[in-house]
Amino acid sequence: MNEPAERLQQVRERIRRAALGAGRDPGTIGLVAVGKTRPATALAALAAAGQRRFGENYLQEALEKVEALTAPGLEWHFIGPVQSNKTRPVATRFHWLHSLDRLRIARRLSEQRPPELEPLQVCIQVNISGEATKAGVALAELPALAREVAALPRLRLRGLMALPAPEPDPRRQREPFARLREALEALNREGFDLDTLSMGTSSDLEAAIAEGATLVRIGTALFGPR
Ligand SMILES: *Cc1c(COP(=O)(O)O)cnc(C)c1O
Repeated sequence: MNEPAERLQQVRERIRRAALGAGRDPGTIGLVAVGKTRPATALAALAAAGQRRFGENYLQEALEKVEALTAPGLEWHFIGPVQSNKTRPVATRFHWLHSLDRLRIARRLSEQRPPELEPLQVCIQVNISGEATKAGVALAELPALAREVAALPRLRLRGLMALPAPEPDPRRQREPFARLREALEALNREGFDLDTLSMGTSSDLEAAIAEGATLVRIGTALFGPR
């Protein structure tokens, strides 16, 4: 087996074990391969091994890879900060946006989403660890933003995303993921129909899956250290 295919197999196995350990169906957890700083050739190798979902943080780099990768059926997820003057390429070139945290951006994306495409699938990013410098909406402001986003015609609000502060102790990794799951459940009790929890990276995917992750975003474990 070549190396990218091997790493992909290992990550899939980690996901499968974590799911079974949590009493969940492994088929309910999607893998987003996070390609930031990696060359398009590295992503192409994973695509050749069967990977379909790719996540990118930096727009210019992302657009180059969207152009370069020609394998059919790839799904592109934007997971980085969106600047308000750079919404159009996100609206036109991506299937998903995980990092929505401002209404102004949401409105522009909805206006700019081409009519021939499906609505842009979005997650609202929540600043779950309450870090002053981190991206994401505060939990207290989440319900109001979710209502506004859900009303936009060309966006489809699918769920929530978080990137908690790094926590080396595996026993403590679950706390922020539990808070994100509880926030999603609270919205659903209010009448939302959200099915996506985008949480978990190379260092904490087991904890995220134990708390209900449906999309894990994995870079290092697939591509090696950055
Ligand atoms: C880089 C990144 C990841 C992947 O992290 P790894 O530790 O490389 O698995 C996931 N989500 C976001 C938002 C990222 O920026």
